[in-house]
Amino acid sequence: MKHLLEPDAWKSLKSWLAERGHKAFRAAQIRKWVFEGRAESFEAMSDLPKQLRGDLAAEFTLWTSKATRHLTSDDGTEKLLLELPGGSRNAAEGVPYSAQQIECVLLRDDDRRTICISTQVGCAMGCVFCASGLDGVDRNLTSGEIVEQMLLLQRLLPAEERLSNIVVMGMGEPLANLDNLLPALDEANADDGLGISHRRITISTVGLPKQLHKLCELNTRYHLAVSLHAPTDELRNEIVPVNKNIGLAEIIAAADRYLEVSNRRLTFEYVLLAGINDQPQHARELAALLGGRMALLNVIPYNPVAGLPYKTPSGNAVNRFRDILLEAGINVKFRQRKGDAINAACGQLRRSQPPLVPIQPEPHLQETPHAGHR
Ligand code: SAH
Repeated sequence: MKHLLEPDAWKSLKSWLAERGHKAFRAAQIRKWVFEGRAESFEAMSDLPKQLRGDLAAEFTLWTSKATRHLTSDDGTEKLLLELPGGSRNAAEGVPYSAQQIECVLLRDDDRRTICISTQVGCAMGCVFCASGLDGVDRNLTSGEIVEQMLLLQRLLPAEERLSNIVVMGMGEPLANLDNLLPALDEANADDGLGISHRRITISTVGLPKQLHKLCELNTRYHLAVSLHAPTDELRNEIVPVNKNIGLAEIIAAADRYLEVSNRRLTFEYVLLAGINDQPQHARELAALLGGRMALLNVIPYNPVAGLPYKTPSGNAVNRFRDILLEAGINVKFRQRKGDAINAACGQLRRSQPPLVPIQPEPHLQETPHAGHR
């Protein structure tokens, strides 16, 4: 079975249709059903000839993953845990869950409908506070698997609502899987795809300079967010281990170049970890590092991960940190956490099972099987 959501499958669809005596315009019709019509199956593509629907179903599949959990939170956040086929690791190797699981999230904010998608099964970056990378990376997702997340999340919206934004902030390091990510984002962006403007698509990265330069060369227009988490190499080497081989200066230079080429404002992300990177001295160093650039600093309170020793700072510590940055004239936003109760931070849900004890008793949470596919 070929996965129709893979770019190669779309490319060959016209000749596939021709070989079977179907009209060429059917290809556009099928795409419309998939991206706009939110079709669940080929059978549901009601204006295609029955023969064609059968031929498609015999050769292609729309969905390769299975939603094994669907959690909803009363702030409108919904999260899917997707089980993928294949894979090399299992419980026998000490991974306490099926290694072939990824997470993706739908967030509702006023009129925005933002989805957060994964690019890898696990992550190799090893950021010490993050749940996704605790067991390393298993594999890159294919383009089709990335597109599939977008479509499954879109299916959670009522027919009159559209996806407005994408953040590539789920499991994995997007720049470590650029070859598969970019074709998937092309589909998100395409007029005959999801039609989401470049400006509304954010790639979040730990900061891999070589790949950032590649984005510059490819002339992409996506919004870039760099996960900073520390103002000095000394501290960042501890929190974000890959920094040891790279260093802040090189990352910031590459990010600045991307800003010039793409003409997009940069965002830096900074997760506040109590007692580690939330001290007044860190705020002052951060102000010195970022001062004078066209950048937004997004400060995110830590979302505690079971089994890890890190804590969310107190309100006082957060205020103190904020005041120093504001006084220094830094364009800073303190983000609210969303979907805490359903472990919305990347990688958390996958690790929470079995069992899911802390989540189920909450009366405002309901868990439903994802009705969408298969
Ligand atoms: N690898 C990419 C994208 C995935 S993580 C990156 O590093 O940017 C997306 C963002 O969520 C990153 O800024 C990451 O540091 C942050 N994050 C990860 N775990 C978190 C947690 N438990 N609480 C708050 N933010 C977290």
